[in-house]
Amino acid sequence: MQWVIGVFGALFVAGAAYLKGSLSLSGMLAAVLMGTVYFGAGNAFWFGILLLFFISSSLLSRLRAEHKEELERSYAKTGRRDAGQVFANGGLGMLLVLLNAVYPLPAWELLFVGVMATVTADTWATECGTLSRKPPRSILSGKILPTGASGGVSLPGTLAAAAGGLLIGIASWLLRQLSPGMAVQPLIILAAAGLVGGLVGAFADSLLGATVQQMNRCAVCGREVESAVHCGQPAAHARGWRWMTNDAVNAISSIAGGAAALLIGGLM
Ligand SMILES: [Zn+2]
Repeated sequence: MQWVIGVFGALFVAGAAYLKGSLSLSGMLAAVLMGTVYFGAGNAFWFGILLLFFISSSLLSRLRAEHKEELERSYAKTGRRDAGQVFANGGLGMLLVLLNAVYPLPAWELLFVGVMATVTADTWATECGTLSRKPPRSILSGKILPTGASGGVSLPGTLAAAAGGLLIGIASWLLRQLSPGMAVQPLIILAAAGLVGGLVGAFADSLLGATVQQMNRCAVCGREVESAVHCGQPAAHARGWRWMTNDAVNAISSIAGGAAALLIGGLM
């Protein structure tokens, strides 16, 4: 029964996102699979957090969408998500849902809060940071960077990251009350786990972006880009480790955010 509700719930949400242009066709199929597993192998706690990340990010990406179009071409971070991006954001969480179904441990739940706080914080920071009039600065050197560049931080972006992480933490407390059989955990612990997890994860993302993330240079316009193709031409490797793609950076920073949330849960 859980799985049936999961399929229909996921179809409804992913279908609406596809019709609204937030997901490509492959992104919709990936989101249906993911939502089904989150609810089928999990419950409202797991599914609700995924949903909150997904809906809040889709709404934020619509803010001044035309202004972000050029950024999208260079950094492939906002707008219509394909299957790769859906798995980059929700894949680690799906693994934790499945691990918890096979071998239930409270640690999986805290790791999950930190992982989802990270992807939410990171997406919110990108969406809000790119709306700022002031350009971001490098997290390492403090030098001014082009808007949307990897490794850049800004005050609006950091505040958005904190808000996104905190929201996931508070929502996870609320969703636990709605999920029969889940142990009660104090609001303060989950709120702190979300806030700290989200900030640590977003910070890790910027740090990796400023140091070892693989970046290309466009042969036509000369800009440093994450994408392999820019201005219709293949972009050549410019810096970073070749295996450290945007997806790898997302995965590592999510693990860092999850570990931070787990630590907070253990300390408090
Ligand atoms: Zn170019």
